[in-house]
Amino acid sequence: MLKGKVALITGGSGGIGKAVALRLAAEGANIVIFHMDDEAKVQELCAELRSKGVKATGLRIDVSDFSETKEAVGNVIKNFGAIDILVNCAGITRDGLIAMMKEENFDAVIGVNLKGTFNMIRHCTPYFIKQRFGKIVNVSSVSGIMGNPGQANYSASKAGVIGLTKSTAKELVGRGVCCNAVAPGFIATEMTANLSKNNTLVDQIPMKRMGTPEEVADLVLFLASDASSYITGEVIRIDGGIAM
Ligand code: NAD
Repeated sequence: MLKGKVALITGGSGGIGKAVALRLAAEGANIVIFHMDDEAKVQELCAELRSKGVKATGLRIDVSDFSETKEAVGNVIKNFGAIDILVNCAGITRDGLIAMMKEENFDAVIGVNLKGTFNMIRHCTPYFIKQRFGKIVNVSSVSGIMGNPGQANYSASKAGVIGLTKSTAKELVGRGVCCNAVAPGFIATEMTANLSKNNTLVDQIPMKRMGTPEEVADLVLFLASDASSYITGEVIRIDGGIAM
């Protein structure tokens, strides 16, 4: 389905991002990962991706840094020849109540989740426009749709990602570029490891379970492929019904 395409996945070494990388690689896409993880862990993942017959590389790039991401995107174009799919999955949390939230925790979350997504779209877009093709998939969250106590910074960043998605989609709709977002609910990854044993929380989910990274990856694949050719500016919840 994606044979020969190049997919750049930020946060591609995390719980959801890794599942996305494996899913897109299984469809034949070459994979580039920007991450802030342990290098050895990412090298292992890249070896697993290559065993599927695709090219794969992991680069330690801080998405919140405008010039670092600009240079890195340029290097990906040089080494891989193109970027066809951009999945913005890098994200962090620094939870705390608004009355006590430290400025640095607000700035850090906005910096990675929102500005990081902007940086990546900003630097990839000139290439997308030139090749008259691009699929952008941003990973937002149900927190950005309905808010969440203790997550004012995170909810603001993810709501920002939705606005960014829609404006980008409107700007680029005539250029062969689609930009959509997914809004996961509670997905079982390291980010939510301390929540997964909370039965009250799981009870609030209409489907009575957390989602899996693989379920999110299937949705990202749909939005990254020709199967979604008539969809842009959309936000698709994948949340077991928690935000309906
Ligand atoms: P995770 O903590 O497992 O992975 C986060 C990834 O982001 C890692 O690869 C990490 O290296 C990367 N990263 C962090 N800071 C970075 C930076 N400055 N520059 C580049 N990369 C950076 O998280 P996850 O649960 O897989 O979440 C992935 C995305 O999904 C995030 O955007 C998160 O907000 C979103 N999300 C997760 C859930 C959930 O329940 N897990 C729900 C809704 C949305």
